[in-house]
Amino acid sequence: MGKTYVIAFDQGTTSTRTIVFDTQGAIVSICQKELKQHYPQSGWVEHDPLEIYNDQLETFTKAVSESGINPEDIAAIGITNQRETTVVWDRETGEPIYKAIVWLDKRTTEICERLENQGLSRYIKKNTGLVIDSYFSGTKLKWVLDNVEGAQEKAEAGQLMFGTVDSWLIYKFTNGEKHVTDHTNASRTLIYNIKKLDWDKRLLDALNIPSSILPKVQSSSSDFGTIDYKGTKIPIYGVAGDQQASLFGQGGFEAGIGKSTYGTGCFILLNTGEKHVKSKKGLLTTLTCSLDNEAINYALEGSIFAGGASIQWLRDRMKVIDSASETEAICNSIPALKNVYVVPAFAGLGAPYWDGKARGSVYGMTLDTGREHLIKATVNALAYQTKDVIGAMEKDYGENITTLKVDGGATANNYLMQFQSDLLNVDVDRPKMIEVTAFGAALLAGIKAGVWTKNNISEIRDVDTVFSPKMDKKTRKKNYKGWKKAIKRTKRN
Ligand code: ADP
Repeated sequence: MGKTYVIAFDQGTTSTRTIVFDTQGAIVSICQKELKQHYPQSGWVEHDPLEIYNDQLETFTKAVSESGINPEDIAAIGITNQRETTVVWDRETGEPIYKAIVWLDKRTTEICERLENQGLSRYIKKNTGLVIDSYFSGTKLKWVLDNVEGAQEKAEAGQLMFGTVDSWLIYKFTNGEKHVTDHTNASRTLIYNIKKLDWDKRLLDALNIPSSILPKVQSSSSDFGTIDYKGTKIPIYGVAGDQQASLFGQGGFEAGIGKSTYGTGCFILLNTGEKHVKSKKGLLTTLTCSLDNEAINYALEGSIFAGGASIQWLRDRMKVIDSASETEAICNSIPALKNVYVVPAFAGLGAPYWDGKARGSVYGMTLDTGREHLIKATVNALAYQTKDVIGAMEKDYGENITTLKVDGGATANNYLMQFQSDLLNVDVDRPKMIEVTAFGAALLAGIKAGVWTKNNISEIRDVDTVFSPKMDKKTRKKNYKGWKKAIKRTKRN
């Protein structure tokens, strides 16, 4: 008997999980722990790196023992992680010198301004695919070096190590043997050159970061070291940041395939193949999961701030629904909306408009506009915003997307999925597998272990429903024109 199980570590912003998959891609067991959030100051968000490691170890041990499988039958482990979150630790003791600074943390705004004042915006966009923003790891690392006593000197003496959460977990699980990361995580640091596929000397100099602190960057599906689990050696063969892992888990490794994750926010990625597309529309360029001996692929990325969050707003603030799941039946209970639009710019408008001052608005109400209309218009807004981002991607990329693969909590809403397909005029493909992100990490590991090949993923990834466009062209155009008008009225700059 060959090895028959592949494990995914899924280290997210709010929880840490371990999932055991069998070779059919079915979940054998799953174990999860909530992760404590620390908010030491306004705009600051931290995690405890040791808690992250301990939780991962605990969920791993539990998931394996609950599944009843023999550890010897585990082919490999894949890791997917919250991206950009930054950990710095001591090379000698292995102890973190500061808490993990989470991607959401805004403390480095000033460092970002300095980079802008040095005239680095264009260089950064061109070489890292990113925009100067506190979101990415580079300025967080700089902050630690500047603010933890003695850190800069220690870093210069080669005594510190930096990593995103994947690197940190691998370091701990391999007993300090490996200091590595993968292309997807490196591409979110602001100091990695996605054209040269190497750390960027000019940006390291600008931030005064010595290169000895950096992990080695490898293909997402490659050998990241070995975990000793109660005497059994299990290789780590896969690593990817969460959004890229989800694109991979959806089978999105060909140019033209897009994926959208409909969670609290929505994360949209379009694989542009070997073409490194620089966005003129305010999108990011990033690396997709890489396989040994295969050319690197690029993706355009855009996110929507208020996705499922606006459904939560209907429930918690407007109090017009008791649960998100009610919205589908309500949307189906009234005819298609003609003129009512909700623009959920609660936190401004993101890609492709980038207007931080815009605020949420409702348009086109008449005396017969009621609760159902408000709800339906809010659900529709998820699809309209996704179309805005995908439209921008198509313009940048120069071609239309072929399919949209979807995942995340709000994809349970069949009305929304159909409306999305209608608006985009492409098939929307929802898989049976809900744990797409973890599955993506498992796939990367399973491919390296020889359990799966890239080509048989379509057999493992069972389709639940494909929503095909039903709306006529005229209606589609008219609806979208109305939305654009609502956006125009919402914009402040
Ligand atoms: P996250 O990973 O960001 O926590 P999830 O993928 O778990 O998000 O999705 C939860 C989000 O999906 C919530 O914001 C919720 O309002 C929304 N949601 C869940 N079910 C539905 C539904 N049937 N229709 C619309 N939105 C939904």
